[in-house]
Amino acid sequence: MMPRKRLFWQVFWAYLVIMVAVITGGGWYASREARQFYLDRESHELETVGWLCADRLAELVDAARWSDVQAVCETLGRKLGARITVILPSGVVVGESLQPPEQLDNHGDRPEVLEALRGGVGRSQRFSDTLGEERMYVAVPARHDDRIIAVVRASLSMQSLYETLQSVYLRVAMAGLVAIALVTASSVLVARKIVRPLEIIRDGAERFARGDLNHRLPIQGAEEVKKLAESMNHMALELHSRMETIVNREHEHEAVLSSMDEGVLAVDYAGRILSLNAAGAELLGVESDKVRGRVVHEVIRFYNLLQFVDRTLVSPACVEEDLELRQPENRWIHAHGTLLHDAAGNKIGALIVLHDVTRLRHLENVRRDFVANVSHELRTPITSIKGFVETLLAEELANKETSLRFLRIVLKQADRLDAIINDLLLLSRVERGTEEHSIELDVEPILPVLVSAVEMCECKARDKQICIEVECAENLLASINAPLLEQAVVNLLDNAIKYSSTGSRVRLAASAEDSEVVIQVQDEGCGIEAKHLPRLFERFYRVDKARSRELGGTGLGLAIVKHIVAAHRGHVGVQSAIGRGSVFFIRLPKPSLASAPITEFSAEVPPAR
Ligand code: ADP
Repeated sequence: MMPRKRLFWQVFWAYLVIMVAVITGGGWYASREARQFYLDRESHELETVGWLCADRLAELVDAARWSDVQAVCETLGRKLGARITVILPSGVVVGESLQPPEQLDNHGDRPEVLEALRGGVGRSQRFSDTLGEERMYVAVPARHDDRIIAVVRASLSMQSLYETLQSVYLRVAMAGLVAIALVTASSVLVARKIVRPLEIIRDGAERFARGDLNHRLPIQGAEEVKKLAESMNHMALELHSRMETIVNREHEHEAVLSSMDEGVLAVDYAGRILSLNAAGAELLGVESDKVRGRVVHEVIRFYNLLQFVDRTLVSPACVEEDLELRQPENRWIHAHGTLLHDAAGNKIGALIVLHDVTRLRHLENVRRDFVANVSHELRTPITSIKGFVETLLAEELANKETSLRFLRIVLKQADRLDAIINDLLLLSRVERGTEEHSIELDVEPILPVLVSAVEMCECKARDKQICIEVECAENLLASINAPLLEQAVVNLLDNAIKYSSTGSRVRLAASAEDSEVVIQVQDEGCGIEAKHLPRLFERFYRVDKARSRELGGTGLGLAIVKHIVAAHRGHVGVQSAIGRGSVFFIRLPKPSLASAPITEFSAEVPPAR
């Protein structure tokens, strides 16, 4: 991976490299020019020395005074600090400031000498075999009577020139280094100045990215940077208001979804859950906030629902089906599946709406069972009546005694029909009253209701020599509908008498308990097996059908009690033990009105002897 370059370093290095290149280039150019200038100047000085010597030596050469020539060479060479050589046109050296001329070879082939012999000024810079070093040579012609009689050559060692030049170079380099140091420092400042506002903007952009859209960038720096900061601030403002709109919409959505009774499940084409509302999660027994993004097949364990989801995803039209979901408890769900589209109208998955219809199904079953039970209950007496009447008609009342016996049976069955129909009517009246909240409740004392109920059952109790004990505080109040509550108590007393043996006792008591008023009917009868207790208050449920019919029961008595108590916003209950008797409870909510001080009342209905 390429290392990430910071803008600071990019600007710094670019600026530094350019400046160093400029300084180095400038230094190199200046050194080169200085070198050229210096060499040119030295060359001219040598030329001047050459002309000076040529003037002084021309006559001596012309006169062939070689020793004088040599002496002048040596003197001038010493004084002028240069090597002076006098060469005849034949190339023979006749004077030389540093060495005896006879030791020197023929100089006629030296380029500067050749140029001087042609009448010009010969210049050359080369390695001297004689002296074993690099030298600068300038040769000029020495004339006598306009004739070139010799060449005077002045030369200098390049070594000393180079030494001088090197000190110049050193100074230039030092100046360059100082300049580079200054440029480095100024590069840092320049890079910081360029990069700092951008860094502030970058930090601001990072804060925006982290969601801090209330942050504002300072408007400072160059015009372009100011414009950028302004644009970014504007962008943050826009983003903030859009995010707010989106978040609000999402909250509204979630509020709508979570307040729905129906479960809503959205899945994409890969089968991943896009959303599942609280009702849906509850129906499917999962946690709604943990399933988003997971594959529906991993989360939902109801195979029939998974098949339904798959079917919805491939079906172009809506799909509907009632599904039974077992576990944790049996539920019936009406599922409605449609394809899900995004804002652009593309299909992105499926939306399944789940409606819990368990209660509806249950009610439907109850209704069906009820109709079957009612038909069955009515058919038995009707069949019996029909049979006896047909027999009576066939026999044309021939035998009076038999006819009377049959007619008594017909009457009994008719009474049974009457009792069933009365109970059914009462039940439906109480049910409707409860649903429509039309049953009026008044705060009244309980005692008169109990006394009246006992009076209703007195006759039957006396027949079985059963003593009914009543125990109730005189001023015990409850919010009641007196006729209906009396009917409920009558039903319980009637059962207590019916299912008790002759001579036993029945206790009817009412008392205040915490927040409730409890009415109890206790008998010493046959008792009820525990397995029947949960269903005892269902319509037409009987422990012993034959016995109940025999005793004139309709199987609706306890159902009526349950509905009457429900209309009072109370509860019913039973405790029973085989052979030891049963206790039926009616629990009514206590009225807010404070009841008067309790005075005990006890009454007994003496059994008939
Ligand atoms: P029924 O008209 O048959 O009495 P109920 O609805 O009043 O119908 O009672 C349902 C069943 O509960 C009865 O058939 C009977 O088997 C049982 N039952 C009710 N009360 C008592 C009781 N006090 N003792 C024993 N069994 C009772």
